[in-house]
Amino acid sequence: MQYPEWIWHNGAIKRWEEATTHVMAHALHYGSSVFEGIRCYETPSGPAIFRLTDHNTRLYASARIYEMPMPYGLDEINAACREVVRRNGLTRAYLRPFAFRGLGGFGLSADTPVEMSVGAWFMGPYLGPGALETGIDACVSSWQRFAPNTIPAGAKAGGNYLSGQLVAREARRLGFGEGIALASTGLLSEGAGENLFLVFNGTLHTTPVSAALLNGITRDSLIRLARDAGIEVVERDLPREYLYLCDELFMCGTAAEITPIRSVDGRQVGAGKPGPVTRRLQELFFGLFDGSTPDRYRWLEPLDA
Ligand code: PMP
Repeated sequence: MQYPEWIWHNGAIKRWEEATTHVMAHALHYGSSVFEGIRCYETPSGPAIFRLTDHNTRLYASARIYEMPMPYGLDEINAACREVVRRNGLTRAYLRPFAFRGLGGFGLSADTPVEMSVGAWFMGPYLGPGALETGIDACVSSWQRFAPNTIPAGAKAGGNYLSGQLVAREARRLGFGEGIALASTGLLSEGAGENLFLVFNGTLHTTPVSAALLNGITRDSLIRLARDAGIEVVERDLPREYLYLCDELFMCGTAAEITPIRSVDGRQVGAGKPGPVTRRLQELFFGLFDGSTPDRYRWLEPLDA
């Protein structure tokens, strides 16, 4: 990865190599960080950050769950996100605002001060070149998601991604593009870093927030875009075997955008290529950035605001 030149750290823009923390930082030892992933797209009216405020609102919600007092406010972090993209001369970017417990005190319940930072860099399709067009081969992981009364899946916290790493690394090691995890109930949860949608007879089905998943902002956007386009959407518990029976299947997330899945566990999904509902949603979603889908919810937040 080619590192960008500038990064925002604790209230100031710094050179990449100067934005450091101590090896004894609490977050390194105990996973005490919360973060977001946000994309900036080029649009006909200039670069725009997709649902910047909604993402950063979730950042504060994650911090609240873990009782992390945030040293900067939402407006400051929104401004920091814009500044980092601009300073690095980026127009298409992936942004990573985050907060973590740094140095000072060392117990699990220590009131270790919270630091905040925002990075931004160029990122193409997360699940590999061509993934958006041809789809990927996925597998159901041998690892389950954490049970709801263990680690809250609704917080986007660093520690959660140990689970995600087990799922994603196992999938890649076995030659798959991504892993899908079951919840501790045995029902479908989500991908290692993506929510799931299944299509049956033209209707979209997605797993509910009670299935140990992150309530994705892309998921929410697609539910709204689909309903506005007259496509029925059902949030429901789904058993694993529905992966093998559905007409279409795709993953979604900020990084993965809308990635079709052409097979699961070596079994072909539908026609083995992106189906009509998946392609329609891709059109509606990416249409937000070329202007062909009206931005009726004001999701595009201009870079130069
Ligand atoms: N689930 C997990 C575990 C994720 O890490 C992500 C990516 N943040 C998502 C779902 C999708 O969330 P969003 O659409 O808000 O990026």
